[in-house]
Amino acid sequence: MKINIDKFCVPPGKKVNLKHWPTRVKPFYDSEEEYPELLEHHVRKLSDLQEQLYADTRYAVLLIFQAMDAAGKDSAIKHVMSGINPQGCEVFSFKQPSAEELAHDFLWRAVCRLPERGHIGIFNRSYYEEVLVVRVHPEILRAQLLPPEDLEDKNIWKHRFQSMVDYERHLHRNGTRVVKFFLHISKEEQKRRFLRRIDEPAKNWKFSQADIRERARWKEYTRAYEECLPATSTEEAPWHIIPSDDKLNARLIISAAILRVLKSLKLGTLEPNQQRRSDLLKIRKMLVKE
Ligand code: ATP
Ligand code: MG
Repeated sequence: MKINIDKFCVPPGKKVNLKHWPTRVKPFYDSEEEYPELLEHHVRKLSDLQEQLYADTRYAVLLIFQAMDAAGKDSAIKHVMSGINPQGCEVFSFKQPSAEELAHDFLWRAVCRLPERGHIGIFNRSYYEEVLVVRVHPEILRAQLLPPEDLEDKNIWKHRFQSMVDYERHLHRNGTRVVKFFLHISKEEQKRRFLRRIDEPAKNWKFSQADIRERARWKEYTRAYEECLPATSTEEAPWHIIPSDDKLNARLIISAAILRVLKSLKLGTLEPNQQRRSDLLKIRKMLVKE
């Protein structure tokens, strides 16, 4: 199975019409039996590379997940990262900001959660909500304590895109690789998943009234994503649009994209150099003599 990740990358600055980006593509697995083997293969490779990343302590990787409700962010994170050593990985889910968070600029709370060198950080939602939910709901923007000249600035969204691009560039220059995923589902598939969440009592907890309110704004969200994705997809921090009507296929694509980034890093090998080896052998001799 070879997945061409470039096919799912948003070219910087090129117009995005989400209708032309598929929510389903031909599966990369031949059968439901084959899928776990393929995912397991990716998970094992991810686990090995994470160990190298951790030992290397120079790079960090930040994975950003954005999507409409029920697109499968949580389960993609759970399955794709299942082989990762929890000591080198942090997941953070961004909800409505607190009063303390609102008292700072909009990137502040995310900066506090960035992964340290050697770690993988996962943002389940992110500062991108600032040009998505905040754009779709002007009342949220009005509650953000911004000075009036910024609040009334017609270019506020463009400026926010620029802040994000600039900040991600800064992170890249300092060793953090940022990889962004938009899990793209169709409105019909979301309806099917909501119905399942209502019909199956064990899944009721996953459903909230807010999900229906946001679904009613589907068009506005689509427009907001269509502007955000090309404006903030860069060579250093690309957006991937993941066809997510088929969750299994989505996980294979996401894991392949993460592998590609990890493989691109100039990580030191886990093998020690000669000096280190001979130092260790000296210590060994002393230990044996004790
Ligand atoms: P789930 O799949 O469990 O529903 P979720 O990511 O939708 O996960 P929720 O607790 O349902 O989590 O919702 C979090 C809400 O917080 C989302 O509606 C999101 O849009 C909102 N949110 C996140 N960041 C911001 C922000 N900066 N300003 C306002 N709302 C935000
Ligand atoms: Mg939700």
